[in-house]
Amino acid sequence: MDPARVSYDVVVVGGGAAGLAAAVAAAGRGARTALVERYGFLGGMATAGMVGTICGLYRATKAGPPEPLNPGFPDLFARRLAAMPGCEPPVRRGRTFVLPYTPFAFMCLADEVTAGAGPLDLYLHAHLTAVERHGERIESVRVTTWERTVELTAQAVVDASGDAVVAYRAGAATETSAPADRQLPSLIFALQQVDTAALGSGARLALLRALATAEQEGKLPKGAANLTLGPSAQPGEVICKLALSGIVEELGPGGDLLTAAEQEGRRRARAVVEFLKSLPLFARAFVSHAAPQVGVRESRRIIGRYQLTRDDVLAGRKFEDAVARASWPIELWAEGQLGALYEYLDDGETYDIPGRCLQSRDVSNLFVAGRCLSATHEALGSARVIGSCLATGEAAGVLAVRRAEEA
Ligand SMILES: Cc1cc2nc3c(=O)[nH]c(=O)nc-3n(C[C@H](O)[C@H](O)[C@H](O)COP(=O)(O)OP(=O)(O)OC[C@H]3O[C@@H](n4cnc5c(N)ncnc54)[C@H](O)[C@@H]3O)c2cc1C
Repeated sequence: MDPARVSYDVVVVGGGAAGLAAAVAAAGRGARTALVERYGFLGGMATAGMVGTICGLYRATKAGPPEPLNPGFPDLFARRLAAMPGCEPPVRRGRTFVLPYTPFAFMCLADEVTAGAGPLDLYLHAHLTAVERHGERIESVRVTTWERTVELTAQAVVDASGDAVVAYRAGAATETSAPADRQLPSLIFALQQVDTAALGSGARLALLRALATAEQEGKLPKGAANLTLGPSAQPGEVICKLALSGIVEELGPGGDLLTAAEQEGRRRARAVVEFLKSLPLFARAFVSHAAPQVGVRESRRIIGRYQLTRDDVLAGRKFEDAVARASWPIELWAEGQLGALYEYLDDGETYDIPGRCLQSRDVSNLFVAGRCLSATHEALGSARVIGSCLATGEAAGVLAVRRAEEA
């Protein structure tokens, strides 16, 4: 039996920060919009990856209060999120500001904004499985939900899948860095019953050194010391970010990178926690929850009509077709280093993301938002943060509506 067909002006695939913003922007302009998400909640890395802080919402500068970079959906969403239980107003981190939030609050707010967004149909537990393309246009996308298969016809499509799955299935130009050159994935997990009052910056540093020594001495699995301890607003809680180095190196022929990362991440997390428990501050610590999926910083990207470069970012380049402003440093989590390396723009400087980075080079009604936008590996190290994903999402939604109106 042929699947049911439902017709839309705009179909957005992927309900992470970028897809959420794109769908709300499109529906808010009256376009009949579908938002397709494979999980049972929205947020993508922001929720399923348990990220916990939104970066890239405010101008990066050494002094002064937080200044929103993109006044539309990103700023409105951030203000509402900051007022949710367990969330906080923006806090300064060195030269930048971040907005701390809980993944549950993000999901709930995403439910609220999609429910109030106009003609928007939300498909949760819905996987994109095929794309129908005729010539330079995508005609429809096929989606399998838990109970049926539906063909969603579209005047314009936004690929906000993080992995450029629409573009890939449509045969549009995409690129990926070689696995060993990609940014490292990380597993994020929460520890409870830590003596956080005694865990000052000195204690943290000593602890990271102890982990590195234990790894060198073979007391921890290789790579287990690549740990960052993040603060939490909840007493006794510490958010751990374990960067998963060495996975590609150990992958056997035909092995699947993400499968290996998921399993190895949990193995290393357990070993790290066992080690930490030998220290007085962590004696009663346990893992209360871990992200349902390993956090992926970089995968496939669309080749658009322009590719954002490292030089564009660091030079604070402006474009006539600017659709979003950004100023987060280039943040790279690479093999062979502990933690991230940062390259900053000049103090207070911003760069533009041009609309051409959100438009497929060779499919006329395909737009892209979020971490699969058209950018080089280095430029993506800045443009992938959630604040920028919200901004490119909103912009892609608007571009898609315009294309649908022309059709
Ligand atoms: C470990 C880690 C730490 C990070 N820390 C920070 C931080 O502190 N602050 C910050 O701002 N940024 C941080 N980032 C970056 C940021 O979280 C992501 O780049 C951003 O959230 C990406 O948003 P997105 O909407 O583009 O993609 P994603 O969040 O990946 O969303 C894509 C969505 O598409 C869905 N999808 C994919 N394929 C399909 C399919 N076939 N069918 C249906 N749905 C599909 C996915 O389920 C997902 O919901 C971090 C990233 C990682 C991995």
